[in-house]
Amino acid sequence: MTITAYPPQRGKVLTPEAQGERDDFDRSYDGGNCSCHLSPPCGSCTHPGNPRNQEEDPDAWMDDILDLDELEREARAAVAWTVDAAAARHKLEMGLPPF
Ligand SMILES: [Zn+2]
Repeated sequence: MTITAYPPQRGKVLTPEAQGERDDFDRSYDGGNCSCHLSPPCGSCTHPGNPRNQEEDPDAWMDDILDLDELEREARAAVAWTVDAAAARHKLEMGLPPF
């Protein structure tokens, strides 16, 4: 079973240290393997690299070097341009003025 953690905020990624703990957690517990039903709290749940623990730890996160908002704006602009270009081409083929 794999636990997928989402950053507490958009534009955040794990720090290198936190990523190392995450990798160690994934190696040690295969992304989960909670055994609280045997002896709570188990080593999986108390591991600092457990995604659920990292979600609640602001120090595990840093600003992403990628500006996702900027990328989204650029992607939307590119899609809008493609649609406009296709519409203009279509009108041209129909013998209509392009805009
Ligand atoms: Zn557990």
